[in-house]
Amino acid sequence: MTKRTALVTGASRGIGLACAKSLAAAGHKVVLAARNLDKLEHAAVAIRAEGGEALVQPIDLASPESIQESIKQAIAAAGPIHILVNNAGVTKDGLSMRMKLEDFTSVIQTNLTGAFLAAQGVMPGMMKERWGRIINIASVVGEMGNAGQANYVSSKAGLIGLTKTLAQELASRGITVNAITPGFIETDMTAVLTDEVKEKMLNVIPLKRFGKAEDIAASVAFLASEGAGYITGHVLRVNGGMYL
Ligand code: NAP
Repeated sequence: MTKRTALVTGASRGIGLACAKSLAAAGHKVVLAARNLDKLEHAAVAIRAEGGEALVQPIDLASPESIQESIKQAIAAAGPIHILVNNAGVTKDGLSMRMKLEDFTSVIQTNLTGAFLAAQGVMPGMMKERWGRIINIASVVGEMGNAGQANYVSSKAGLIGLTKTLAQELASRGITVNAITPGFIETDMTAVLTDEVKEKMLNVIPLKRFGKAEDIAASVAFLASEGAGYITGHVLRVNGGMYL
């Protein structure tokens, strides 16, 4: 296996941390990026304890300047980034009728613009290497819509469009770009939902269980692998069958 360097955004917890762990277990060097440095350090210690190689890199996906500077620093510390997992994401739910412009644009800024800028930051290095993997963590709701999440759904649907466009632009350079659309995954993001909402969700999941961060991480490791080299522009549903 060729050892690569992977940068995972939102790697301090939840799906991002699981992705970083699975990429490290596959033998890659991982750069863990998010805002909270303490949590990143903890995550890096956990990965190193399992024999992986991990570096930490503070980044704020809501800030174009932070993204540019952080990617520069990550490359200086870890070398060219071969695998980018655009995982960081936020929600600010509310019905469209009353949604503040700031709550709409800030979610788009972090989830979509942030992912675009991170991809732009690593592209030159990937082009030079003539090898790259960009994996965007979108969402099942980006495919099916969801009342109360106009901002989040728009950002995730946008990520799917971005994935297909980057796939076309970068294919000739040996870079694949794919999206994963998780269903309901048990993390901090979904822990805030009421039992009633969770019960309703469970009823529409044919596999009759919520997903785990590791379910997404396994797909990320696959899409990052040599074996997935002929897959690009794909939207991989990891949702227990809740949307087909
Ligand atoms: P989570 O537990 O809330 O973790 C979010 C991660 O993103 C954290 O590491 C957080 O770290 C980071 N983050 C948030 N804002 C950031 C910013 N401005 N700059 C840099 N990092 C930032 O979320 P999760 O459930 O693991 O979700 C991960 C991804 O999967 C998200 O894109 C989410 O939309 C998507 N997803 C989740 C589910 C689900 O059911 N959980 C379903 C579909 C899709 P800091 O706070 O330290 O920055």
